[in-house]
Amino acid sequence: MSNNKIKKIGVLTSGGDSPGMNAAIRAVVRSCAFNNLLCDGIYRGYEGLMEGDFEPLNARSVKNLISRGGTFLKSARSAEFRTKKGRELAHQHLLKASIDGLVVIGGDGTFRGAMAFGEEFHFPIIGIPGTIDNDINGTDFTIGYDTALNTVVGAIDKIRDTAHSHNRLFLVEVMGRDAGDIALSAGIGAGAEIILIPEQNLGKERLIESLKRSKNSGKTSSIIVVSEGDKVGKNIYQIADYIENTLTGYDVRVTVLGHVQRGGSPSCRDRVFASRLGVNAIDAIIRGEHGVMIGVQNSKVVSVPFSEAVKGDNKIDKELIRVADITSI
Ligand code: ATP
Repeated sequence: MSNNKIKKIGVLTSGGDSPGMNAAIRAVVRSCAFNNLLCDGIYRGYEGLMEGDFEPLNARSVKNLISRGGTFLKSARSAEFRTKKGRELAHQHLLKASIDGLVVIGGDGTFRGAMAFGEEFHFPIIGIPGTIDNDINGTDFTIGYDTALNTVVGAIDKIRDTAHSHNRLFLVEVMGRDAGDIALSAGIGAGAEIILIPEQNLGKERLIESLKRSKNSGKTSSIIVVSEGDKVGKNIYQIADYIENTLTGYDVRVTVLGHVQRGGSPSCRDRVFASRLGVNAIDAIIRGEHGVMIGVQNSKVVSVPFSEAVKGDNKIDKELIRVADITSI
């Protein structure tokens, strides 16, 4: 069913920024131009939506953007948008600007906000998953995840050089409060000896056993990749203390990678992925779809209802865990 009523789209980025968000905005804007739709960029996510901070964008407004990390529309987290009053304000600004469809690029919080807004005002909204955490249900990948993996692997490669030179044990904390995807994939890619993720509590005893096995097998240095949300210790420093206090002869160092994982020029994979999602988001809104996220499952573009996307039961890949266990022996 085509929705010929849509004439003007608004696009925004919300929540944590991720590399490739610019490529997604560019694809949305150019797809609007291709389909003869007007497009406004909305600054600072839902904050800008409630303030009417809009700017008309055309195909040329998004030049030289595809290679840039972050989001030129800026992003924000907004407490006010969680209130009915805040969302009413946003609706008034959209009506005033004659915007009749929205594309929101962000994580599960962004989709929760979009779901509430779309249902309250029967407003067509399409979501695009933009977060480095890869923690969205219903899509195999999120924009920025691949770039973050490459950043983490590059950093751990450097740490390994020094770990090896000094026979040290390094604990490297990577992002992922609820999802261990970054830790697991980057851990395999960087050849980590042990990977600690929130979905699987290894426990302190097994961690120590594992380290002993490593040492007995002739390893002189080790890298342990720890996801932010891992439950083995209260935090990475506590795990480091525990190892030093429990095992003798370990020189333990901690590196917290932090926000370097969010930035940087997007990988080609993220640029292509973001471009596909942007174009397909506009196709979907023209078809009359709303309240859905555009994602990819088994290499095919799919529409997933927001209610499914925010379920948060992003399961860790057991096959990857097996590969990590075998290759770190
Ligand atoms: P990331 O995964 O990078 O943290 P995110 O999109 O999950 O990104 P959040 O800060 O959780 O980031 O959500 C973005 C914004 O969406 C929030 O600041 C808030 O304005 C809005 N939002 C989140 N949940 C709701 C909700 N239940 N109702 C209304 N708005 C919401």
